[in-house]
Amino acid sequence: MKNPAQPYLSRRNLLTGAAALGLTAAMPGALRAQAAPPTATLIRGAAIFDGRNPGLSTGSDVLIENGMISAIGPGLSAEGAQVIDAEGLTMIPGLTDAHTHIMWHDEIEELIYGSPHEYTGAMAAEGARRMLMRGFTTVRDAGGPAFGLKRAIDSGVLAGPRILPSGFFISQTAGHGDFEPRLNYLSPYFTGRPDPAYLRGWTITADGKAEVMKAAREALRYGATQIKIMGSGSITGAHDPLDVTEFTLEELQAIVTEARKWGTYAKIHAYSDASVQNALKAGVRSVEHGLFASEESMQMMKDRDVYFSTQYLTYAASPEEAGLTGEAVPKFLQAKAGATDGYERAKAFGLKVAWGTDILGTIDKGPAQSLEFVARTPYYTPTEILMQATSGNAELFERSGPRHPYTAGPLGVIEPGAYGDLLLVNGNPLDDISLLTTPEDSLTVIMKGGVIHKNTL
Ligand SMILES: [Zn+2]
Repeated sequence: MKNPAQPYLSRRNLLTGAAALGLTAAMPGALRAQAAPPTATLIRGAAIFDGRNPGLSTGSDVLIENGMISAIGPGLSAEGAQVIDAEGLTMIPGLTDAHTHIMWHDEIEELIYGSPHEYTGAMAAEGARRMLMRGFTTVRDAGGPAFGLKRAIDSGVLAGPRILPSGFFISQTAGHGDFEPRLNYLSPYFTGRPDPAYLRGWTITADGKAEVMKAAREALRYGATQIKIMGSGSITGAHDPLDVTEFTLEELQAIVTEARKWGTYAKIHAYSDASVQNALKAGVRSVEHGLFASEESMQMMKDRDVYFSTQYLTYAASPEEAGLTGEAVPKFLQAKAGATDGYERAKAFGLKVAWGTDILGTIDKGPAQSLEFVARTPYYTPTEILMQATSGNAELFERSGPRHPYTAGPLGVIEPGAYGDLLLVNGNPLDDISLLTTPEDSLTVIMKGGVIHKNTL
């Protein structure tokens, strides 16, 4: 029989009790390693690309302490630090991706309506680890239930990039985030049944000013660092053809107003020129895809300092490589022709270009993320591409203002005070950017927050 005076011990009480008794020293190494602060690391002799300035600098050592870069200079020393001799290697900032879907590792219908949601989480955990092993230390996620994964990674339990999550897509009925495949289907609006796309954190379907305001507030309540709007059709959408413009200007303005009240911003999936124009008039600060924006719209993007967050790999592929068949093929080819013009227009207008990939689908698609580096070479130099993927994206992430989760120092740069997120590359990616497409061979050290996740030296 239990003694009623004996309180039940919570797990916290047990651990506190163990510490009081001096038992922690006897705990398994893995548990202690988790709690221990990262050791200091001194990297000697690498040629450094700092993310901001073109070219490499030599003759400096880099000291990383407590997760941050604490000093850069010649002949550094630090007592007790792990020393890495990086002579002949190139140090670059950890890579960033401004358009991931880190939870999306299967057909979206499967993830929303089919498999147990634990499957989504388990696949995403492995996908995130592989992404870090490709050298990506921070991503801005463009939609999906990533809050739990972010928490597990930030706590150091799982390996993966830092995440700036958007959470729910905000989509209109029959919009790009309306993934319900059935046509003769009474939506939750008519039936009052909970929507699986909402319950599993993928989409809030909202129509009209009041509903989109509520949807934006809901995403912010979950911890969205920026809001993701679905503003037009796409090639692969369940219901909406590529040319369709979604949401009214009034609806977009309502979403942007909510984002601004939280000190952050909205980004939008937008292909049609009308959808881009509406977004710009509403105050959206990052246009995703945007490839059919007219010269007038590109000028508006330039004048309003809006990021052009497009993908180059998507349309570098042939229809077969993109896995398309049937009616999708002519649509894709038409889009591909238009896309090339879009890339050239964006370049001519000198837009701020984010580096993002939008890779989604089964987990074996992941390595395509690294191919984006070469897909950009017809338009940008290796230095420009690397700046996009480091300091350029980091500047875009700053638009989350007080909602930015990583504010201890700058991201995407090698400088004192910055996060200890860096890579050592075997070779010089400013000469040969294709090195980054084979990260398993070319990346010898991967460090995130001062923690070494890979070291083949
Ligand atoms: Zn996307």
